[in-house]
Amino acid sequence: MDFYGHVIDGEEAASLSGATFSSTDPHTRRPWAEAALGDGADADRAVSAARRAFDHGHWPRMGTAERGRILHRLADLIEEHAEDIALADTQDMGKPITQSQGNDVPRTAANFRFFADHARLSTSESYPMDTGHHAYTRFDPAGVVAAIAPWNFPMMLESWKVAPALAWGNTVVLKPAEDTPVSATLMARLALEAGMPPGVFNVLHGYGPDSAGQALTEHPAVDRITFTGESGTGRVIATAGARHLTPVSLELGGKGANIVFADADLAGAVEWSIRAVFTNSGQVCLAGSRLYVQREVYDEFLTRFAAAADALVVGDPRDPAVQIGPLASAEHHAKVAGYVDTIAEQGGTLRTGGLGDGWTIRPTVITGMDHTARHAREEIFGPVVVVIPFATEAEAIELANDTPYGLNAMLFTENLHRAHRVAAVLRAGTVWVNCFFVRDLRAPFGGVGDSGIGREGGTFSREFFTEPKAVVMQIDPAADRDRPRSSRGRSAR
Ligand code: NDP
Repeated sequence: MDFYGHVIDGEEAASLSGATFSSTDPHTRRPWAEAALGDGADADRAVSAARRAFDHGHWPRMGTAERGRILHRLADLIEEHAEDIALADTQDMGKPITQSQGNDVPRTAANFRFFADHARLSTSESYPMDTGHHAYTRFDPAGVVAAIAPWNFPMMLESWKVAPALAWGNTVVLKPAEDTPVSATLMARLALEAGMPPGVFNVLHGYGPDSAGQALTEHPAVDRITFTGESGTGRVIATAGARHLTPVSLELGGKGANIVFADADLAGAVEWSIRAVFTNSGQVCLAGSRLYVQREVYDEFLTRFAAAADALVVGDPRDPAVQIGPLASAEHHAKVAGYVDTIAEQGGTLRTGGLGDGWTIRPTVITGMDHTARHAREEIFGPVVVVIPFATEAEAIELANDTPYGLNAMLFTENLHRAHRVAAVLRAGTVWVNCFFVRDLRAPFGGVGDSGIGREGGTFSREFFTEPKAVVMQIDPAADRDRPRSSRGRSAR
C-alpha cells in the first residue's frame, strides 16, 4: 500500500507519534492506501508552519499576479494528473470514475484558475468624502486558515476553500476527511511542484473529534475556520471558533426540495431530477431528495422517473459505464440501509430500488410517504428519494419551505412568471430553475438555517478570507480646516 503523509512546511511527513490509518476502497472493501494519523501535536506543527509562512514569508506580500501564476501552474498540474487524482477519489470513496474525472478534477482546476484571476482583477470601493478626505478599502489577507472538508467531493470541495484562501494571500492547513485522505496529499505535492513556498499550503490527516480536526479548530494561532460537513459537526466547530472569536464559515447539510409543476417540460424534468438525486450515489448536500410533483402529471412523471432510475448502471465505480457506485464506507452504508429497511414502517412503498451488493444501494424511489415521515425530513445522503404529490403552487412552496435546512431547491416549469415568483420565496441559498448543479463561481453559494453560515464564491469568499480595512486620507487640508473643530474629520452625513 502506498503511504500518504501530512504535508507540513514543504515536507511530506509521518505523524510525530508514528501512527497511521488506512483508507478502504468501498468497492473491494479492502484497505488500499495508508495515511499518517495526526493528533494535537501534528496540528500544532502544521499551524506553526502556516503561521511562520504568513508572518515572515513572501506569499502574503507577493502581488496577486505572482501568486496567480503559481495557482495557474497548480491548475495545469492538476489537469495533467487528472487520471491519478480521479482514481484516488474513486478508490477512497467509491464515486464513479466518470464523475471524478469528468466533473470533480476539471472543477478543481477551474476553482484555482477562477480565484487566482478574481483576486488579480478585483477592485475595491472608494468613498470620496465632502470633508476633504477620501476613504478606500483594502482587502488584506486574514492570516492562517484552517480548512476542514468532507468526503463526498474530496478534492473539489477542498479547492473551494484552499483556492480563495491562497489567492488572497493566506496560508492554509487543510484537514481532509478521514475516508478520503489521498487526493489532499496529491494536491499539496503538486502545489510544491508548482512553486508554492513551504508552509503556505499544509495538509494534516486524521480524525475530527478529540483529534487532529478538533485541535485545529481550537488552535489560538488560527485566524479563520472554514468547514463543510454535517450540521451537527458545524455546531461543534462554531463553538470551538467562539473560544478565540475566530470567524467561522459553515457549509452544512441539506434536504433539497425539487418541485415539478404540471407545466414543466417533463422529459427535461425527469432527466434533471435523476441527476439531482442520484449523482455521486446521492451523497450530495444539494441532492433533490424531496421530489414534489403536481397531481396532473404525477403518474406520468413517476412512471418515467422510476424507469430512468431503474436503468442506471450500478457496479464497480472504476468502470466508465457505471453510474452508481458503492457508498463511501461501511458506517455510511449501514446508515442509509437503515432508511431503506424502514420504508414500510414510515408508511411508504418501495417503487423501485433497495439494497444492492456490498456497500451499494440501488437507486431507490419511495412513494406513498407523508411529508412528515423521517425519510422526507432527514438528510439520508444516499440514492434515496421520496416522491410526494401536491395540488397548488402555494402548497408546493409550503412543503418545500417546511424544513430546518435551506441549502438549495429546484423547480421545473415553463411559466416564466411562476419561475421567478416561486424562486423568490423559496427559503434556500440557491434555487435552480429547469436545471441542477450549475454554478457561476462569482455567485454566492451557501445555506440558511441548519444548512450553514456564510457564503462562498467570488466577492463572498473575499469577504471571509480577508480583513477589509478602511484607509482614510486627507486630500484637501483646506476643506478640513474650514470646518468647525468639533466636526473635523467627520463626514457631514
Ligand atoms: P462530517 O461533519 O462528519 O465531517 C466533515 C469533516 O469534519 C471531516 O473532515 C471530519 O473528520 C471533520 N470533523 C468531524 N468532527 C470534527 C470536530 N469535532 N472538529 C473538527 N473537525 C471535525 O461530515 P461528512 O464528512 O460525513 O460529510 C457529509 C456532510 O457534509 C453531509 O451532511 C453533507 O450535507 C455535508 N456537505 C455539505 C456541503 C455544503 O456545501 N453545504 C457540501 C458537501 C457536503 P473525520 O473525517 O475524521 O470525521
